[in-house]
Amino acid sequence: MNIGLFGGSFDPIHRGHLALAQAAASRYSLRQVLFVPANVPPHKQKQPLTAFIHRYAMVALATQDEQGFVASLLEAPEVTAHGGVNYSIDTVRRLKQTFKKSDRLFFLIGIDAFRDIAKWHEARALLAECDFIVASRPGYSLRDVAESLPEGLRPPAAVTRPFHEQPAKGDLVLPGVTLHLLEGIQQNVSATAIRAAAAQGKPLGQWLDPRVADYIKKHRLYRGK
Ligand code: ATP
Repeated sequence: MNIGLFGGSFDPIHRGHLALAQAAASRYSLRQVLFVPANVPPHKQKQPLTAFIHRYAMVALATQDEQGFVASLLEAPEVTAHGGVNYSIDTVRRLKQTFKKSDRLFFLIGIDAFRDIAKWHEARALLAECDFIVASRPGYSLRDVAESLPEGLRPPAAVTRPFHEQPAKGDLVLPGVTLHLLEGIQQNVSATAIRAAAAQGKPLGQWLDPRVADYIKKHRLYRGK
């Protein structure tokens, strides 16, 4: 069975996340997609994140009607080791311990996040553990994707240079890494924009599942001080 793992801060989960997961599930026959809100300890945060419990609750609300979509506690504060710091490689290894021989793991990620993959903890090991489905966006070339890979996996510049003209689509299969580039996810929305709109009391319905919008309102999330 093909299983997708989709991690993020999900602060909050929005239509862009759901569109990515739906497209990946249908294109790669994923029977299950685990949405994994990340637990980021305060000293690791660029900006304060909403409490894990709220982010998890919103993921649960947004995914409840979708067959095979699961809100996951794999990175809940109680589960993660190292004093709350959680690395994707640990999550992937933990999850794969529960797998059957026939299960195959796909790691879902947007291209903006993938651009930083080389800086992730044990990036090469992570890329070796599972296939990656990278949601591409117009303006990114195949060269951008190839050059994001960590050293040792990255093809030489002479090889990637001609990729400059090619849009990021299709499969990129190299020793130690398999990337599936997924096109056509046109959801111009970000959690940052949603938080800013919520802070101004604007309606959020166009970007979010209505149940998530209600949750944000009820708990007065993102309202600032
Ligand atoms: P923020 O604005 O707070 O940085 P975000 O909207 O990018 O948040 P994250 O939870 O950080 O959301 O993203 C989780 C994953 O979803 C990342 O891999 C990211 O690239 C991807 N993603 C985020 N927004 C979109 C979108 N509109 N379309 C497709 N993928 C997206």
